[in-house]
Amino acid sequence: MFGYTRGSVHFRACRAIFDGMSKTLRTSVPLLPSRYGRRIARRCESVLKKNKRIVVTGGAGFLGSHLCERLVDEGHDVICLDNFFTSQKTNVTHLLGRPNFELIRHDVIHPIFLEVDEIYNMACPAAPGHYQYNPVKTTKTSVLGAINTLGMAKRCRAKILQASTSEIYGDPEVHPQPESYRGAVNPIGPRACYDEGKRVAETLFMDYKRMNRVNIRLVRIFNTYGPRMHPFDGRVVSNFIRQALEGEDITIFGDGSQTRSFCYRDDLVEGLIRMMNGPDEFTGPVNLGNPGEYTIKQLAEKIIEITGAKSKLIYQPLPQDDPTRRQPDISLAKEKLRWEPKVPLAEGLQKTIDWFRTIDFEAYRPPTPNY
Ligand code: NAD
Ligand code: UDP
Repeated sequence: MFGYTRGSVHFRACRAIFDGMSKTLRTSVPLLPSRYGRRIARRCESVLKKNKRIVVTGGAGFLGSHLCERLVDEGHDVICLDNFFTSQKTNVTHLLGRPNFELIRHDVIHPIFLEVDEIYNMACPAAPGHYQYNPVKTTKTSVLGAINTLGMAKRCRAKILQASTSEIYGDPEVHPQPESYRGAVNPIGPRACYDEGKRVAETLFMDYKRMNRVNIRLVRIFNTYGPRMHPFDGRVVSNFIRQALEGEDITIFGDGSQTRSFCYRDDLVEGLIRMMNGPDEFTGPVNLGNPGEYTIKQLAEKIIEITGAKSKLIYQPLPQDDPTRRQPDISLAKEKLRWEPKVPLAEGLQKTIDWFRTIDFEAYRPPTPNY
């Protein structure tokens, strides 16, 4: 009875039992009076703690590299796949000496054959300037990347999580955005390559689940920031911090009244891992983000205050289809994953600014010629 192998009925039963237990119950099981109970609990734990083989596509990126770091520290065998379009190898060089970490230069639009237990599909340019640089390639990355990773998951019977996005909701008419909202995306605008690519990826995930019973997870990530953002990615947090530290003017697009809700990267990575390890019945989509909503002007003022910069605010035209507001409804994540962000904006910005002060901007290659 105790010779469980991964994927066996016993293994799945153990996982289901433990997934269903509250934290208190989980810690109290080993204290059960019966020897039999203690034996079962120990065996369940050792089966469950067994190291997994995990692929992270886009693993050298801002979020991917932190996710790799967490998973390597937890003892899993981690394979990072990346074509380094919007990232640098330096994001993961500190992991290269670890025996349970591998780095493969690979473009997810091509198939790859690996033996794995779990896949986090993070590969995709995420900053508007990056994904609009080669929009056809962006759509291919989302769509072919989803097909190839789903194919791998199907062949290996691996669990697979898709890093989807709040852009699924487009310029939303419903505020805050719950998962049930179907969105208002302009399918022919400059943001469509990203938004529609991610929407098709969600469709593919659901169809692989329905047709092939692939064990999927869909996570809709709202604006996330933190150390290791590319200083030339043009995203609002990285741009404003770099401009403030370099004494440049801060470029506000439009009148700065559009809103975003900013989640610190540690909170987000915790949410991704909880979703992957959550019960198989809960496939999502689930929103992960920080509900604290700020105007872009308020964000600029906060960054000026924390950095002590003398930068002036200057106003530039609002890009086409720029969403006017965005705030996640995270009731579902709270209920199903017992997850909510912990890091307030001021604290997260301070940590991010501290990191930006340590890096040499000259050492970063702008991924596109637009900066
Ligand atoms: P990032 O640009 O830092 O990371 C993306 C990574 O994917 C980079 O390392 C890049 O080189 C790699 N990549 C791009 N195209 C690839 C391809 N064809 N093949 C292999 N690798 C490729 O961005 P991020 O913020 O870390 O985003 C990670 C994921 O999370 C993306 O899928 C993004 O859409 C999603 N997401 C992020 C946010 C956020 O605010 N950070 C919000 C919503 C969704
Ligand atoms: N933005 C800005 N100045 C900048 C960069 C961005 O005012 O230098 C605005 C942008 O127009 C958008 C918001 O900040 O309204 C967030 O932009 P970002 O590119 O970070 O991500 P988005 O949420 O639009 O995908």
